[in-house]
Amino acid sequence: MTLKLWNTMANALVELEPIHAGEVRMYNCGPTVYSDPHIGNFRSFLMADLLRRACDQRGYKTTQIMNITDVGHLTTDDVADATGEDKLEKKAREEGLDPFEIARNYEQIFHENADQLHVRKAHEYPRATDHIPEMIEMIEQLIDNGLAYSVEGVGVYFRVNAFDQYGCLSGNTVENLDSGSRVAVDDRKESAHDFALWKIDEKHLMQWDSPWGKGFPGWHIECSAMSYKFLGGTFDIHTGGEDNIFPHHECEIAQSVGSGTGEFAKVWVHARHLLVDGEKMSKSKGNFYTINDLIEKGYRGYEIRYSLIASHYRQPMNFTIGGLDGDAKALQRIRSLREKLEKWSTDPSEVIEGLEVEIETARNGFNDAIDDDLNISGALGVLHETVRSLGRQEPKGDSARLALGFLSHCDEILGVIFVEETSEEDRLSEEQQSWVLGREQARNDKDWALADELRDKLQESGILIEDGPEGMTWSRIR
Ligand SMILES: [Zn+2]
Repeated sequence: MTLKLWNTMANALVELEPIHAGEVRMYNCGPTVYSDPHIGNFRSFLMADLLRRACDQRGYKTTQIMNITDVGHLTTDDVADATGEDKLEKKAREEGLDPFEIARNYEQIFHENADQLHVRKAHEYPRATDHIPEMIEMIEQLIDNGLAYSVEGVGVYFRVNAFDQYGCLSGNTVENLDSGSRVAVDDRKESAHDFALWKIDEKHLMQWDSPWGKGFPGWHIECSAMSYKFLGGTFDIHTGGEDNIFPHHECEIAQSVGSGTGEFAKVWVHARHLLVDGEKMSKSKGNFYTINDLIEKGYRGYEIRYSLIASHYRQPMNFTIGGLDGDAKALQRIRSLREKLEKWSTDPSEVIEGLEVEIETARNGFNDAIDDDLNISGALGVLHETVRSLGRQEPKGDSARLALGFLSHCDEILGVIFVEETSEEDRLSEEQQSWVLGREQARNDKDWALADELRDKLQESGILIEDGPEGMTWSRIR
């Protein structure tokens, strides 16, 4: 199994050749934690998860780092020197809350959603606000290297004209930017394309001391500083959404290579945009879905996951609720075969001629598709065909176990076949559980008063208790 990936930098399909034999080091641009993550955000995070799982399955010791952006990401971020308001600060003002409180709250929701979608945990989730000293150190190095300059009372800028490789990832060289530029000229900067590394702003709600004055970092510097800290100056893979290519990743390259820490990332992998009902997601059009919206509509995490990974990450994806329903049905066919196989596996074995070869071929087909730039749709094609064939053959005993082994191999990548979920509906709170247990004990002790008291407490909390011939059952009062 040799993983091939589309490298945005080379504009070509390349074989993954890790810098350190047997190890893959990967950095993923993570969430900006000022609102509920939407399905477009998660399309990119799930692509990173598939990549992580593919590396794990191929036996690499994978180190995965995903940053949490909790300062410095401004609202107008499609130009290198972003303008507008800090997204965190804007939200804090709207909600009348402390920006740190906002950040921690949405960071928590991000992690909950990632768990609901069965995303494997990254090894670290470093926060920008925890790495201000590392960013300041890198900015000082860039100034020493002649690649950055400070402007009194304004901040520090990256000197784009002094960095020859600028544009190597996105094609946005200074020359190309000059023609067709919509970047406003700012007298305080040497060039209109120079971007902020540090912004002096004493009114900013999140501010830190620096050699240039109190303020906050530019958005791009965090990823350069934190990837260096956790992965070193040269590492294997860097991922993000396609909207990160410029300016964010182009600026990261300038900062990291320019500071002399190393060559930076070898392979750049970018997920395409997600559309909803054929259009860009927007709250005003009513086609905007967060993960929580879909969970509230009753979809299981594994169904949402399946739908978001089913099309190739480099194809634009058009999400629709009808499509999600169809995907959920397709997944259900795989999951119900799994349940049947689990039952059949306890039956006496019977040999099915050719089954071993068939499963070996399917396994190779699945692996080849994943190796081919994470071609999930190809891999799912192989899986569904095999599921249909196994359903017809009804393998028992050892043959069923062989089939289950194949499903579990596929699920190391997919993460949707063997995972189980209990919804809130199926679960009692810890307090309610303790009342149920207390009531059972009270009944055993014939302490009827206490038993009744606990039953009433449960009822007040919305749980109806019934004692039948098969013991106690509970249901939710509607
Ligand atoms: Zn980043």
